[in-house]
Amino acid sequence: MSDQNNHEDIREGVRKLCLDFGSGYWQRCDRDRAYPVEFVEALTRSGYLGALIPEQYGGVELPIGAAAVILEEIHRSGGNAAACHAQMYTMGTILRHGSAEQKARYLPGIADGSIRLQAFGVTEPTSGTDTSSLHTTAVRKGDRYIVNGQKIWISRAEHSDLMLLLCRTTPIDQGRKRSEGLSVLLVDMREIPPAHLAIRPLRTMMNHSTTEIFFEDMPVPADALIGEEGKGFQYILSGMNAERILIAAECIGDAKWFIDKAVSYANDRVVFDRPIGKNQGIQFPIAKAYARMRAAELMLREAARRYDDGHNPGEEANMAKLLAADASWEAAEACLQTHGGFGFAEEFDVERKFRETRLYQVAPISTNLILSYLSEHVLGMPRSY
Ligand SMILES: Cc1cc2nc3c(=O)[nH]c(=O)nc-3n(C[C@H](O)[C@H](O)[C@H](O)COP(=O)(O)OP(=O)(O)OC[C@H]3O[C@@H](n4cnc5c(N)ncnc54)[C@H](O)[C@@H]3O)c2cc1C
Repeated sequence: MSDQNNHEDIREGVRKLCLDFGSGYWQRCDRDRAYPVEFVEALTRSGYLGALIPEQYGGVELPIGAAAVILEEIHRSGGNAAACHAQMYTMGTILRHGSAEQKARYLPGIADGSIRLQAFGVTEPTSGTDTSSLHTTAVRKGDRYIVNGQKIWISRAEHSDLMLLLCRTTPIDQGRKRSEGLSVLLVDMREIPPAHLAIRPLRTMMNHSTTEIFFEDMPVPADALIGEEGKGFQYILSGMNAERILIAAECIGDAKWFIDKAVSYANDRVVFDRPIGKNQGIQFPIAKAYARMRAAELMLREAARRYDDGHNPGEEANMAKLLAADASWEAAEACLQTHGGFGFAEEFDVERKFRETRLYQVAPISTNLILSYLSEHVLGMPRSY
């Protein structure tokens, strides 16, 4: 990849922004399970969150490779973009499938941050990975939909104005395929009376502002429907490549942070009168993690290149997410082991990043489901579920 595609100017800009949010800042947010308001505000002001929105709607219209670099650098700095990364890509569903009126109404505000589209409501407690069996219903009554049901693990819902909600508009036994009766609603949560929408925070092993949401006869204007009724599953799937690429970039940023931190500690820490980094038992796991990170990074760049060239890089995007999540987890393990007892100390940040990067083995898609995708769609083996 040429230097031009490495987006050095963007990397430099994000690094500079992240200098204001050092380890003490992220430790405080983690300890209090607090939303990193100041960081999100700074990122919003910088315009980076509008990276993928076309210029005609007030965005910066950068290629996905550049957006990936923004998220990578945030993670590489020791921070975490999960508080706001969805603002960058959730709007893709509106951009690709929304009406001209919806795009004009929402995209400029999403680009300048005055409208927060941070919540993406797909997962339910009983359906889990099997999205097409979800139960939340939206029933058309005159000029409104009435929504009933429950979602779980919906991140940032308390810090978002809009939520992209996947729900069932055709009963499960009336569609030809289970995935056919699903629709996407763009719910403006600011307009919903609290009696119809309850958001409950879920405390997790890392600071992630995730929630469960209950809908009780929630009225949503009919013009909140994105695209056609019944096609919601395909609309959500169409955004998956972008999400995989961007999350893979966060993993690469984490892996680089762990590797830098491990190398530095291995060189500085003296035990038995010599740096611990002189021992191959310390060196080799870090070197291996580095090699794996570089390989994953190449796959990520290939996925981004194909995406920006207008292809549908399902294979590369999924492999990038898989390899990058594995690389960040391997680097996390090597980093923690290199630090010995200090790896567990809050002030070193290793334990926090270790908890944070573990998520990518499970969300937004689990490793097993990526392997199932590759087995079936790339290698041509039978569907396993
Ligand atoms: C912190 C966090 C934030 C999240 N944010 C969001 C969000 O903003 N919006 C949203 O909609 N969702 C969100 N999720 C949900 C996330 O996408 C799901 O947790 C994930 O897709 C797995 O679903 P599940 O937890 O129901 O696991 P399950 O579907 O119950 O699966 C449990 C395990 O079984 C495995 N498994 C299931 N079926 C198969 C199979 N056929 N073959 C092999 N293995 C299988 C899975 O890989 C997994 O390891 C979030 C989750 C977390 C933890």
